[in-house]
Amino acid sequence: MSDSAEQRPAKRPRTNASNAVPSPGDPWLDDGNIILQAESTQFRVVRSILSASSSVFGDMFSFPQPENENLVYGCPVVHVSDTAEDLHHVLKALYCFVDNEPLPLVVIAAFLRLGRKYNIQQLYSEALKRLEFEFPSTFEEYDRSSGSFTLIDVQDVGHDASLFAVINLARENDILHILPAAFYIACTCLNGKEFIEAMESLEAPTHELSVFDQRVVIKGWHSIVEKQAKTTFRWLVREDIFAPICTTDDCTNGRKDILIFMWFPKPDCMGLTPWLSWWNANCCNACIRKSKGLHDSGRRKIWEELPLFFGLPGWEELTKKK
Ligand SMILES: [Zn+2]
Repeated sequence: MSDSAEQRPAKRPRTNASNAVPSPGDPWLDDGNIILQAESTQFRVVRSILSASSSVFGDMFSFPQPENENLVYGCPVVHVSDTAEDLHHVLKALYCFVDNEPLPLVVIAAFLRLGRKYNIQQLYSEALKRLEFEFPSTFEEYDRSSGSFTLIDVQDVGHDASLFAVINLARENDILHILPAAFYIACTCLNGKEFIEAMESLEAPTHELSVFDQRVVIKGWHSIVEKQAKTTFRWLVREDIFAPICTTDDCTNGRKDILIFMWFPKPDCMGLTPWLSWWNANCCNACIRKSKGLHDSGRRKIWEELPLFFGLPGWEELTKKK
């Protein structure tokens, strides 16, 4: 089976189903025996391979072809309502091995959309696996994640726009269990002003969050910043906890310095941030041990409530459908 661009026909015959002259797309397989047309792009592929990957295509092809049908290069033409770009990514993946290299977000989106529509489980699972890796739904997985995109290539779209696109994809495909981590990461990267500026500077309107989700992000940011002061960073303001155990006179001032540095002129959303080594400076070992314990239990509390900050159901319900 070859997939050679050189051998693709330069000109395609006109079909009755479309007024535009269709152009050959990629893949265009010389030994293909069926043509799928999305918008004005045609893809020549092998029917049996598509049927083996997708029960929906299998059913579609099982109907007898009409006798007076226009054939293109001897192949029947099946028109689909998908975008040519989505179909290109999905068909390429079906005829080529998908490795562990980062995939662009447009490919992930195509795998999800068409994977669901045509019941192509292998591609849907591949996309979901990558999204779940980047946006975990357990505290342990979140702690192990790097905090930056690993299996999704965001170079073309940019980090912030990719986050917004992931949120839109999650809504569109009903994979809500990735939303708490995605919303939280957006809140850690952007405060309210930066978030609005990021929305205003988006190049692609498809990445823009709905008004509903814009409110979700802004409200979530404020709720977490308020909550982290009472949980993750409680150790910065509760001197009474340390009075009985502290072995020096410097720790109160040490904690005050950290508080000023982190809250002025404005706080960041960082309720899940792990313990940072510079917080050890100017504190005695007893205070550090106690602070670390409080910090860790505070982070877990934030994690437990994370979906609720963004108006989502709790983790148990969100992960039921995983
Ligand atoms: Zn101390």
